[in-house]
Amino acid sequence: MKRGNELMATQNAKMDAKVERLLLRKARLEDRLHRPLRDLRLSVTDRCNFRCPYCMPRERYHEQYRFLKSNERLSFEELARLTRVFVSLGVVKLRITGGEPLVRPGLADLIGDLTTSPGVEDVALTTNGVLLAQQAAPLRAAGLKRVTVSLDSLDPQVFAAMSGGFGSVEEVLQGIEAAQHAGLQPVKLNTVVQRGINDQHVLQLLEHFRGSGVIVRFIEYMDVGNRNDWNRAQVVSSQELLERVAVRWPLEPLEPAYAGEVARRYAFRDGGGEVGFISSVTQPFCGDCSRARLSADGKLYTCLFAAEGADLRSPLRGGANDEELATLVRAVWERRIDRYSELRDQLRARGAQHVEMNYVGG
Ligand code: SAM
Ligand code: SF4
Ligand code: SF4
Repeated sequence: MKRGNELMATQNAKMDAKVERLLLRKARLEDRLHRPLRDLRLSVTDRCNFRCPYCMPRERYHEQYRFLKSNERLSFEELARLTRVFVSLGVVKLRITGGEPLVRPGLADLIGDLTTSPGVEDVALTTNGVLLAQQAAPLRAAGLKRVTVSLDSLDPQVFAAMSGGFGSVEEVLQGIEAAQHAGLQPVKLNTVVQRGINDQHVLQLLEHFRGSGVIVRFIEYMDVGNRNDWNRAQVVSSQELLERVAVRWPLEPLEPAYAGEVARRYAFRDGGGEVGFISSVTQPFCGDCSRARLSADGKLYTCLFAAEGADLRSPLRGGANDEELATLVRAVWERRIDRYSELRDQLRARGAQHVEMNYVGG
């Protein structure tokens, strides 16, 4: 009898745990591939003070190009409100991006709102660094903790070729220094590597930043947008780069810092810090992708390579309450099946169109 009761109790406990798991799953928002919504990238402007050919080629983003007007962009209040809606659905990490986020006046005010928003665990910013020297301290004071700076080369000529002729290495280095000085830690560096353009200079970048606390991450050149004339032959695979780096400085793989981390990290065996590789082309990471993107005019994109976004600005300005907005976002996420990078060749062969990166944020 005693044994029968014990058996029954064990079975009940197992049943309770099963029900609990089912309820938890129901409450947790997941897309059709069981990926939760955890990260939100906010593009605060589609404008930029650079014209990197791999993102906003000069010929296509010329003086007559029609950028969003200020009343078309979401205001900071609207951005903060939508962010709260996303947080209610599971978002814990935010990244402010663009275009170039630091060209939007008063950005520190938005950062202040976001960093003090309940439920937000992490706020980061991606910038080309040119305006960072003057803004690092106010951004830190507003609550920003860390920053990612894009820098493709330390060679002035290569830098100019990759920024479309705007800004200078000196200004970016000053921005990085100011960020470190202000306590924005760690500073991470994004370096897009293009064969024949900057791939011969990447060891020089590592040489410069090793031991400084700045973490360099090499990004495979991607077919973002429809305007950069992407050519696979210009992609330098992370594997190739890793081998080149390891010949000079032996490396040791590091465990991911958190689930879904996009960079594969390696430590320099000699204690010179770490280096990361983001291999979106050769080793896609769609399986763990929990990122949503909000364009500067309030469209929700569920993939960097999506063609269409869901308009949240119209309902927001039309008087929808938070619950109604949450229902819209929930419905979009629950339909999500994006995994472009895993299907790249197939989808490219079909002529897939993508949203532009400066508009939706990297
Ligand atoms: N303007 C800011 C900057 O450059 O850091 C933020 C926006 S930018 C679109 C975000 C990131 O996307 C940058 O690190 C940039 O290098 C990266 N990016 C842009 N075009 C890319 C491409 N075709 N392939 C890989 N990365 C790209
Ligand atoms: Fe501007 Fe960043 Fe795009 Fe370069 S990568 S054009 S800096 S938005
Ligand atoms: Fe996420 Fe789309 Fe990139 Fe895949 S291709 S990792 S789904 S943003």
